[in-house]
Amino acid sequence: MDVEQFRQAGYAAIDRICDYYISLDAKPVSSSVQPGYLAPLLPTAPPDEGEDFATIAADYDRLIQPGLTHWQHPSFFAYFPTSSSFEGILGDLYATAVPNPGFNWSCSPACTELEAIVMDWSAQLLGLGSAFHNAAGVGGGALQTTASDSALIATVAARERFLAAAPVKLDDLVLYVTTQTHSLGLKAGRVLGLRVRALEVCHEDRYSLRGDVLRQALEEDKAAGRHPFMLIATVGSTSSGAVDNLPEIEAVLKEHTEVWLHVDAAWAGIALCCPEMRTALFLDTINAAADSFCTNFHKWGLVNFDASTLWVRDRKSLTSALDITPPFLRTAHGDAGTVTDYRNWHLALGRRFRALKVWFVLRGFGVEGFRKHIRQGIALNAMFGALLKESDILALITPPWLALTVFRLAPPHLGLDAAALNQLNAAFFARLAVRPDLAITQTVLNGVFCVRFAVGAARTTEAHVRAAFDAIVEEARAALVLWES
Ligand code: PLP
Repeated sequence: MDVEQFRQAGYAAIDRICDYYISLDAKPVSSSVQPGYLAPLLPTAPPDEGEDFATIAADYDRLIQPGLTHWQHPSFFAYFPTSSSFEGILGDLYATAVPNPGFNWSCSPACTELEAIVMDWSAQLLGLGSAFHNAAGVGGGALQTTASDSALIATVAARERFLAAAPVKLDDLVLYVTTQTHSLGLKAGRVLGLRVRALEVCHEDRYSLRGDVLRQALEEDKAAGRHPFMLIATVGSTSSGAVDNLPEIEAVLKEHTEVWLHVDAAWAGIALCCPEMRTALFLDTINAAADSFCTNFHKWGLVNFDASTLWVRDRKSLTSALDITPPFLRTAHGDAGTVTDYRNWHLALGRRFRALKVWFVLRGFGVEGFRKHIRQGIALNAMFGALLKESDILALITPPWLALTVFRLAPPHLGLDAAALNQLNAAFFARLAVRPDLAITQTVLNGVFCVRFAVGAARTTEAHVRAAFDAIVEEARAALVLWES
């Protein structure tokens, strides 16, 4: 492809993308292909000679599109949303046009400098204090791929900080998570060969971690000669949106200052852009006590995947753990310490130029645009919760919160025991899962099978939420009829 052919193919690609978004609402949300659908449709080896791009693009439409689940569909209520904005798409397009691995400032000064600036802009958007700002030169932030990656990086930094102060056996270190922490906690432990202890959460308090449980665990582990070195707390857990009680955690950790507090706010952290949410999400404690904080702009935050933001209170905790500088990576500015080399702030060497899309999105929407988007998700979820409360057969498991509602089918007239209710709900969910007109996911909370309804796709309107509620009621009634027959 030469540059003029690229120009034509590029215009056609933008047209295709626009058509895709215009027609999204009319598509089924989930793909109906069966496992292994693709291999029989494609040659078993790459072509010997290059092919015309129009043919390739037509095959994308014909073969790939049918196998896509449309996460940006307005009726996608599964997992958590994955953002897409046109500003974000353009940011990725511009960035991929100038691929460069950005590991040192000198690789491309603009990549590093823009990243430091957009991280500071993002910190301000969310209300994170100057301790986390790059401009202040002590803490700072960098873009990572995912929240799992961010947690792993934070764990490496926490482990190194602990071992530098107290060189103990690795086997004696303990990483604390809770029973509701995303699997990223267990994964970090497994990758790093660390013992992980999952602390019990308070079921009556939306499944959040309370201070007394943490205190007791610390006392037990220390008495047994073990060394808890880190707690991964969550603001907005996957299953129920739980917010661990950070003020209580802060109070306990004041007596255990060696324990690193990482706050995983992968989904809910973006809601901090709304001042009215900051108290409930414990922003003051994050600012006062978190050693590291992560949220994913690619979830609820309007930026296309991937854009996980990780801030640390002390940038040296990252660079001491991760700076390995062979001669071929040395630069004059790096040696002089006058620049940030982001390779020392993450696991890989090279990194994508993610800052560009974050910059485009922050500028395209502005602070008020972010707030409007988040408030709309919260309002739509509240509306869904209100509809649910009216139902005589559906029951809330936790009160609607942020943009997540967790519920189940609970017909009072049947008087079912816990096991039978779970069975009924599994059958109910199986019906929902095959509907083409919405996507929704399940979870289990304290042994109870429940259904999660997560709002947040940028194009979701009240009509989509009402239609989803009607579909849910329809399947609930159908599941009941079958159960009773
Ligand atoms: N943390 C929480 C609370 C999540 O809900 C999720 C995913 O939904 C993650 C972490 C994982 O995010 P990532 O895919 O960016 O690792």
